[in-house]
Amino acid sequence: MEKNDFNEGLLGFLDASPTPYHATKNIGMMLENAGFERVFEEQAWSLQEGKKYYVTRNDSSLIAFTYPKRKDYLLVGAHTDSPNLKLKPNSVMKEHGVVKFGVEPYGGLLLNPWFDRDLSLAGCVSYLDSNNMIKETLIDVKKKIATIPSLAIHLDENANNERTINKQTDISPILTTSEDFDLEEFIKQELVKNGISDVKEIYANELSFYDAQEASYVGLNDDFIASARLDNLLSCYVGLVSICSVEANTPMIFVANDHEEVGSDSVSGAAGSFLENTLKRIFPNYEDFVHMVRSSTLISADNAHAVHPNYHSKHDKEHAPLMNKGAVIKINANQRYASSTKTISRFMNVASSINEPYQQFVTRSDMGCGSTIGPITATRLGIDTIDVGLPTLAMHSIRELAGSDDAHSLYKIILGYTV
Ligand code: ZN
Repeated sequence: MEKNDFNEGLLGFLDASPTPYHATKNIGMMLENAGFERVFEEQAWSLQEGKKYYVTRNDSSLIAFTYPKRKDYLLVGAHTDSPNLKLKPNSVMKEHGVVKFGVEPYGGLLLNPWFDRDLSLAGCVSYLDSNNMIKETLIDVKKKIATIPSLAIHLDENANNERTINKQTDISPILTTSEDFDLEEFIKQELVKNGISDVKEIYANELSFYDAQEASYVGLNDDFIASARLDNLLSCYVGLVSICSVEANTPMIFVANDHEEVGSDSVSGAAGSFLENTLKRIFPNYEDFVHMVRSSTLISADNAHAVHPNYHSKHDKEHAPLMNKGAVIKINANQRYASSTKTISRFMNVASSINEPYQQFVTRSDMGCGSTIGPITATRLGIDTIDVGLPTLAMHSIRELAGSDDAHSLYKIILGYTV
């Protein structure tokens, strides 16, 4: 796929995927368009050689795989979740002339940029229908329904020097000045918009606020892509388009896990059993399973910190990735990243063979280092892994920034592994 088409598709995917549930649904739809057949964990599998499949867990994690009866798979891993503000169950507060929501931060949110944005709401809702069946569905309000206004500088003269943010009291989005708002009625109306009117009672929800501003090119020459959730829907999209681009006889697996931003310990997270369970169903014989794992490679793709031109001292100057200069190989002696000499060499070799650039990142030795699903998956399965990422600024802000060349370049390198 050419770069412009790739990036146009990326912008659409970012806007259509305000939550991990929506991302998973959209990935599933795109896989089906590319000939993948859905299988369900709760049912018996009879896989047929030469076909392509995908499976989801919790509707927020997904694994797609080809089934060519070979054991030397290329795996690409990414995560579907991003930091955000989630509605609390009893969230509606009516005070000081407005209706506002109690929210709980999810993941390592950079909170400052959440103020003064036009926010919408999306996620998963469960309800009881007239046959007393519990059902789940997704909603995406799309309309700009809320905002978290800043406190004016006149009321806080030290705002530019020492303002801090209290996560309990300072970040409640305000919704309306009309006091008759009822959340259950509001959700029911959203369900009606989706064609669901048989709703006796709303049960649980997992709804998140998101920035209503659309993803877009920014920069004199469209140098950048600005959007919410680039970490890590950018890598999800790269993995998705990659597996959709290979033939069914190419051994490839795409894994998209939820809950990376909170440590991956969950039913659908990378530390859970989803990938291992799925691989054991593809290779039910233990001998074949170990053979496959040890013959395969995982490219764990998650965004990397580009050097910030205004804060360049935060990087080791010899390992300071630049935007639009290629994918970043992430290296950490203390195994916060899973890249090894073996997996790094192969990545370098493939990238060089098709003239795609790459860069290397090591965090400053006097600073802490993040981690990814790479070491977690490598530890669980014993699979050789490389951690790579696309250079990004403002990571975990409500609007992140990445170079418009890099995602397509990583896509080409991944395809380079399969030839
Ligand atoms: Zn990430």
